[in-house]
Amino acid sequence: MQKHLKIPSEVIEIIKTLCGVGFECFLVGGCVRDFVLGAPYKDLDLTTNATPSEVEKVLSGYKIIETGIKHGTVTVIVNSLPIEITTYRIDGKYDDFRHPNEVTFTQSLIDDLKRRDFTINALAYDGERIVDEFNGIEDIKNKIIRCVGDPVERFKEDPLRILRAIRFSSVLGFKIEENTKNAMFALKGLLKHISAERIRVEFEKTLLGKNAKSAMLEYVDIFGVVIPELLAMKDFNQFNPHHRYDVLTHTCVALDGTVEDKNIRLAVMFHDIGKPASFSMSSDGVGHFYGHAEKSYEISRKILKRLKYDNKTIDHVTKLIKYHDLDLQASEKYINRLMYKLGSVECARDLILLQRADNFGQAPIHNERIEKFNKIDVILNEIEKKQLSFSLKDLKVNGRDVLSLGLKGKEIGDALKFLLNAVLDEKVENKKQPLINYLKIIK
Ligand code: ATP
Ligand code: MG
Repeated sequence: MQKHLKIPSEVIEIIKTLCGVGFECFLVGGCVRDFVLGAPYKDLDLTTNATPSEVEKVLSGYKIIETGIKHGTVTVIVNSLPIEITTYRIDGKYDDFRHPNEVTFTQSLIDDLKRRDFTINALAYDGERIVDEFNGIEDIKNKIIRCVGDPVERFKEDPLRILRAIRFSSVLGFKIEENTKNAMFALKGLLKHISAERIRVEFEKTLLGKNAKSAMLEYVDIFGVVIPELLAMKDFNQFNPHHRYDVLTHTCVALDGTVEDKNIRLAVMFHDIGKPASFSMSSDGVGHFYGHAEKSYEISRKILKRLKYDNKTIDHVTKLIKYHDLDLQASEKYINRLMYKLGSVECARDLILLQRADNFGQAPIHNERIEKFNKIDVILNEIEKKQLSFSLKDLKVNGRDVLSLGLKGKEIGDALKFLLNAVLDEKVENKKQPLINYLKIIK
């Protein structure tokens, strides 16, 4: 297996340079796991027994950035490829569940591997041999996530690892080993000590994984510690012939039926989170969820804010959620108006993706809706091509033009909106004079 690992020549060059003057140097962590898996790596991390200043000295011919000198990390740029080099470390005690109180450099590679979270992430490779002290290769082969050492201790040191385990299980499609899993459930309460930013990263990566459905279903009680609103969806029977699944299962199946895009997956995850709070049952025993889209909008806004998402993401995702239940029509006129409501073609396209996912999560799937979505996609392509006017800024008259007609205050905005609708309804051409004439006739 080792012989076939294809690693960039730039990395080999750095390993050879450091080893050439008597130091040890290995690729380590996630990139070795990904090389063994034959998957694309995200970042290239090297580990060495040389101290940061020794690394800088030996590699003085290269461009070097002192990224985290206190923690023993420098980044070397080779042919514009950034490679992180970190000195072997032992993490000291953790008092705040995040930063080890002190970081001690060590001469032992094995000590450095011991501080890593999972066996699959505790592999080192120098271009010739893999150091596999904790049977990580075996676990990769068997698709297992297992803590290095005692899971209870490891999760107590840094509870974020609980979410990292779920994330890897979602992204890689691996199962979590029994002892590791038991410790995760037993210690999930410690996640309260973890910052929103770190939680957000793992939550988002979990949602984007190919196994997001199983991960969210199996570990919702753990995410529920930091996003308690999720728990209400669990096992919530919909008592509705359109839904064979409970709210959470429907949501997770929908996740499985959509693209790996951050905004869409967030919108799918939260689109029905307002359902439990909007439930009512009619006398025939059928469940209803009047106003649930608005409720989901409110709840998801709060969650995304708490997770410290940026405003652009919050606005986009919650807008999709708010309108996820619209009964869209496949006509150009309707879609033009929809874009006006949503603000952009991208947003309209994302709404279609969300509705496709929602439909996928329903049982039975409504095939006629798929045809409708396909038609709408064609309309959106045409609209984009024709560059039709769909927002006030595209209207060929502005506030000043309207002002000169004697309108003032709120009337100006109303007149512009009125003209925009007239253009969307194809009652008037989007040209300055026809628009002004139209307004004169109507007023
Ligand atoms: P990704 O593919 O997302 O980059 P990764 O495994 O490389 O996944 P990183 O966050 O880049 O994850 O971390 C690099 C390596 O550092 C990990 O593979 C692991 O060995 C170690 N590591 C990272 N975070 C922790 C942690 N919280 N506890 C213990 N070891 C960690
Ligand atoms: Mg990484």
